[in-house]
Amino acid sequence: MNWRNRTIFFAALAVVFAVHLHEVRAGAVAWVLMLAQFLAFPQLAYGYAVRQGDPARQRRAEMRAVQFEGFCFALWFAGLGFPLWPSFILFAAVCLNLVVFMGRRGLLHLVLVMAAGLLLGAFLFWPLRWQPDTSLLVTGLCMAVFTAFMVTFARDGHVRAVGLHQSRGQARQQLKEIGLLQAQLREAALRDPLTGLYNRRHLSDTLPGALARCARLGAPLALVMIDVDHFKQVNDTHGHAAGDAVLQALARLLQTHVREGDMACRMGGEEFLLVLENAALQPARERAQVLRAAFATLAVAHEGEPLRATMSCGLAVFPEHGRDAQALLQAADGALYAAKSGGRNQLQAALLAGEPAGERVPARISA
Ligand code: GH3
Ligand code: MG
Ligand code: MG
Repeated sequence: MNWRNRTIFFAALAVVFAVHLHEVRAGAVAWVLMLAQFLAFPQLAYGYAVRQGDPARQRRAEMRAVQFEGFCFALWFAGLGFPLWPSFILFAAVCLNLVVFMGRRGLLHLVLVMAAGLLLGAFLFWPLRWQPDTSLLVTGLCMAVFTAFMVTFARDGHVRAVGLHQSRGQARQQLKEIGLLQAQLREAALRDPLTGLYNRRHLSDTLPGALARCARLGAPLALVMIDVDHFKQVNDTHGHAAGDAVLQALARLLQTHVREGDMACRMGGEEFLLVLENAALQPARERAQVLRAAFATLAVAHEGEPLRATMSCGLAVFPEHGRDAQALLQAADGALYAAKSGGRNQLQAALLAGEPAGERVPARISA
């Protein structure tokens, strides 16, 4: 994970130990072992870790290398008579590495590997010597190397913390964007793509709730079922795109006339529905008639041609014509059928229970 730092740190340790070995007039074996420990081993351990392939195995190999170093360093302590400063920086370096990468478990590993190293050291170098003092030069070098090690360690920590902070910020931003996209998708799933009005699915999700609300408040609710008259002819005469333009114009008209709390839906094809909360029979009838008349006078511009169409409306009101969504929709549909058979371009209200069909008032307003 940090080949460069380890290589530099161990090279510096090689210098410290070279000076110390020279001062204590160590033999050739100690020199060879020192060079193997501080110059060769870090490179071998790195090559071995790199060959492990996947990151988890690489990390394990690196941790094993650090543990092995801890074991060897304890041997050095015993072999050299526990020179205080060199022993301290080796111990502190292994301790920091193990704790940074393994947490509290690293401390346990440290104790175990060092105890094992000291036991073997006691066995190999018995009777153990006690020579904690080092020369001023070795002590100074130890301090310099350890300071450089700590600064590099802290800088790495800083870089990681900054990186983590940035990725947290990015993750938060991405989460926000995902949330926005989800809200857009949810909204899109409730809308009809051609007209932008709510679709039948949204209607079936919300109408029962609106009815329950009105029932609780003792308020009326009106449904106006709308169907464009002879729409097939518009398509047949002017083309499908012209039909689409008429549907979009009607949707705009409905959208601009609904009030807060009302809802305009496209039920499918050329059929629309208005849900007017708090609207009783008479006001709903008046508002629907205004819309019907406005549509009849509307000239929809399509490829330079003014297109005209009319619509028929069926009106049903809660609670007179039905107390639940299904009954009300059926009543509005029946009224729409009556408006069609009555000659189109007109509004019919649903019949009350027991009201004969002959009682229907022709509700046409000439456009
Ligand atoms: P009526 O007065 O009895 O309602 O007659 P109509 O011609 O309006 O009714 P009909 O059910 O015979 O025809 C409806 C037509 O609407 C048929 C279908 O091709 C057309 N249609 C349905 N959806 C769309 C659409 O999204 N765009 C266009 N342009 N036409 C559509
Ligand atoms: Mg139809
Ligand atoms: Mg129609």
